[in-house]
Amino acid sequence: MSDPRREELAAGLAEVEARVEAACRAAGRSRSEVTLIAVTKTYPSSDVRLLAGLGVADMGENRDQEAAAKAADCADLDLTWHFIGQLQTNKARSVASYAHLVHSVDRPRLAEALSREAVRAGREVGCLIQVALGPAEAGEIGARGGARPDEVPALADVIASSPGLRLRGVMAVAPRGEDPDAAFARLWAVSQSLRKEHPAAEVISAGMSGDLAQAVANGATHLRIGTALLGRRTPFVR
Ligand SMILES: *Cc1c(COP(=O)(O)O)cnc(C)c1O
Repeated sequence: MSDPRREELAAGLAEVEARVEAACRAAGRSRSEVTLIAVTKTYPSSDVRLLAGLGVADMGENRDQEAAAKAADCADLDLTWHFIGQLQTNKARSVASYAHLVHSVDRPRLAEALSREAVRAGREVGCLIQVALGPAEAGEIGARGGARPDEVPALADVIASSPGLRLRGVMAVAPRGEDPDAAFARLWAVSQSLRKEHPAAEVISAGMSGDLAQAVANGATHLRIGTALLGRRTPFVR
């Protein structure tokens, strides 16, 4: 029984796996230190199911409506759901009902909303602090794109003291136009100082299809891979 989409995903996965293994080898790290998250946004639940069948256990989504639907469709599978997109506080209830790890916590108000909804749902939600690594991004804090490095300690304390939440680490996207190696080195430094106060917050979510090797070289524990696994996304119209 050959399903052409399954073959396509298997080939994408083999290619990504080879790149991750090579990056780990080059960095002197063990492959087991790095979790591969398949970013399935814009692709159907059937792809999630095929990827799960190929051994991928972690799925990433950036829009609540789409993520909630896929998590429900695939509730029979033992998957870990990662919410990786900008998150409005009015979506906290929905996201807290299915997400295991929210990568985009960047302000106290969002942490408070997630805490309230996690408690209501009787769940524990893992949180990563999204860090703005670029000067352009840092200029529009609050609007989008993460907390400034100097805002991380206070936000970490809010998350760590919030019921229903567990502070797990940091996340970043390499700023466009900058060498990802330099950007991810700064994220590593932010992570190191966070771990002085919160030793268990050891997750570093960094690296996408184009810069996974630089992320692994700079200590990434979680890679968020879309295009290289599933193919190019057709532009999404809101
Ligand atoms: C879409 C997305 C990814 C995956 O990007 P690819 O370049 O397709 O691998 C990773 N992280 C975030 C935050 C995303 O929105």
